[in-house]
Amino acid sequence: MSLFTFEGEERAQGFSALKDEVFSRLRTIWENDNPEGLLTFVGGVHPYEGKELTKDLPLERFKPQGEMVFPVSQHIGAPATPLVKKGDKVLRGQMIAEAGGFVSAHVFSSVSGTVKAVEPRLVPTGAMVNSIVIENDGEYTEVEYTPAELSELSKEEIRARIRAGGVVGMGGAGFPTDVKLSPKEPDKIEYVMVNGAECEPYLTSDHRRMLDEPEAIVDGLRCILALFDNAQGCICIENNKPECIERMQELVKDEPRMEVKVLLTKYPQGGERNIIKAVTGREINSTMLPADVGCVVDNVDTVSAIADAVLRGKPVMSKIVTVTGNGVVSPKNFLAPTGTDMYELIEACGGLRDGVTKVIAGGPMMGFAMYDLHVPCTKTTAACTCFVEDPVLKDVETACINCGRCVEACPSHVLPTRLAAFADRGDLESFQEFDGMECCECGCCSYVCPAKRQLTQSIKSMRRMILNNRKKK
Ligand code: SF4
Ligand code: SF4
Repeated sequence: MSLFTFEGEERAQGFSALKDEVFSRLRTIWENDNPEGLLTFVGGVHPYEGKELTKDLPLERFKPQGEMVFPVSQHIGAPATPLVKKGDKVLRGQMIAEAGGFVSAHVFSSVSGTVKAVEPRLVPTGAMVNSIVIENDGEYTEVEYTPAELSELSKEEIRARIRAGGVVGMGGAGFPTDVKLSPKEPDKIEYVMVNGAECEPYLTSDHRRMLDEPEAIVDGLRCILALFDNAQGCICIENNKPECIERMQELVKDEPRMEVKVLLTKYPQGGERNIIKAVTGREINSTMLPADVGCVVDNVDTVSAIADAVLRGKPVMSKIVTVTGNGVVSPKNFLAPTGTDMYELIEACGGLRDGVTKVIAGGPMMGFAMYDLHVPCTKTTAACTCFVEDPVLKDVETACINCGRCVEACPSHVLPTRLAAFADRGDLESFQEFDGMECCECGCCSYVCPAKRQLTQSIKSMRRMILNNRKKK
């Protein structure tokens, strides 16, 4: 039986037996990838990092002008319900849309001004989303916030303040944080992980958060640990950020419940499943939550937002956005108010260079190609990456040569070449039987494929179709 071509008897043999055989053969390759034995997961790739463009540039506080756009869906779950209408005056820090259900989050204005419209607008993912459009008066007149002492807050009050601040997973997922921090059995949570891996190439927003505002991360972690009496706080950072590791180690040296975990630099190390595997050796699949294996994982930006919401009573109103790539004149890291037009940030970097062919909301591995630069920065926006040359455009797809590199790279331990074949012929049943729903859409398989096969794209489309079918049922 060939290692990567499975015909006939494979189903009889059973997929899991087959999988065990394939992955036991790959184990040696993975071990050789980590000679120092640093914390990591199995699979993954080492793309060009591109972080040198912005990693040493401190945050610039950006003050946008003109129109600001606040989508009512900046999170997973029910859209928020607008609380304002055209002509209303609003202040910075004012709630303008209220959570539309348990899994939902409030939306706040980051500027003072007048509501111009409530209408569908384009967002970075390419979707049209109902949005509150505010004409910024440039005054930044703010509401009053109510600070609090952590020691005087009950666990319920801490969660309520996180919800009141509209905090969601700001590393990209957008899951409402108060829901994530309300597991069924809080006493069984052993690890609270602050995800500072930032494995996506080119992005340096978390890097700058750890260097420029590290105290807020420690404050936020203290707030989360107050919810979980039996947990240890782990600040997880890849070993390509030695200055962040040093800074955070210095800050937590007198905190008995906190430590820094150094991870091997590898994409997608920052994925929730991968970081849990790296730090604890525990594994979860797509049907499990981190809490099922005693873990809570939050991105550094989210943890910082938790500190603002709990201790200062301040809602989420800004995001660190890296504007980078060889397609922009002067790459920068901005602390930008939510609602800022991405095009304004690009202009503040000196604009795009001649011949730019691709602009991505996010990084090159997980981001979304943009066809219109006028989209708002939302709670989950981390970057805008601009390229003079689009390497993908030059790729010519050829036949699979059964080299197995996609299998070796896959962090979800599925067989990408097989799944893509099932997807291409619309075979839903085999796709699910071969664990297609375990794919985390990281893009590693397409990245390593010498035949330039669009594996991730095919698998992603199939997953969407199956998820939509499940929703309809
Ligand atoms: S995109 Fe999916 S199938 Fe491809 S490597 Fe990532 S997890 Fe595996
Ligand atoms: S990496 Fe590409 S060529 Fe190699 S087995 Fe996978 S799909 Fe085929």
